[in-house]
Amino acid sequence: MADFKIPKATAKRLPLYYRYLTFLHNAGKQKVSSTELSEAVKVDSATIRRDFSYFGALGKRGYGYDVDSLLAFFAKTLNQDHLTNVALIGVGNLGHALLNYNFRQTNSVRISAAFDVNPDLTGTIQSGVPIYPMDELETQIKDQQIDIVILTVPTQAAQDITDRLIKANVHGILNFTPIRISVPDTVRVQNVDLVNELQTLIYFIDHYSNQPKTE
Ligand code: ATP
Repeated sequence: MADFKIPKATAKRLPLYYRYLTFLHNAGKQKVSSTELSEAVKVDSATIRRDFSYFGALGKRGYGYDVDSLLAFFAKTLNQDHLTNVALIGVGNLGHALLNYNFRQTNSVRISAAFDVNPDLTGTIQSGVPIYPMDELETQIKDQQIDIVILTVPTQAAQDITDRLIKANVHGILNFTPIRISVPDTVRVQNVDLVNELQTLIYFIDHYSNQPKTE
């Protein structure tokens, strides 16, 4: 693998391309046009062509790009770049918002896979992120070398999923559910309880505000 640098903005889009090309590959497609790719990943086709030119993949006019050779390139490059692939589980209201947000300010973190039980969602791409069924959780985590997971599932599902994540060797969980999940010492959990944060804020405003509101 050549030791060359690609622009950060391009590196940031690689997981997007990679996931979509994997989809195409699994569907038995051998080529893809930049227009088709553009519509799927929501990146304009001129940008795609420029991105691909950095790694010498010049699409042939009227043919498009070769899916397998692009995939082979991405697989190697993604492993070498310090991009952290994160998975999200539970594509409800909050999950959707996070997929859409997708850590735009950072170049090094990206949600590359999402999981849900809802068959209306699985097999689709939301905000550029493929949604997999839960029975693919372990294999995708392994294949995509995912170490960090965002949990936005209903409370009652959180611990069972956590147990699966522990077995799948995940080391970090960003827990948006209101319960405290149990994990071994080798796994780090960050809790983000939005309702609790808001209530704490309201409590502080009510009790400690310097300028209490007068009616
Ligand atoms: P939010 O709490 O994010 O606002 P919501 O109210 O739309 O979401 P929830 O019932 O909290 O919906 O479910 C969030 C998502 O988690 C849904 O898309 C749901 O299909 C999914 N989900 C539910 N149970 C599981 C499970 N066991 N494993 C994976 N995903 C699940």
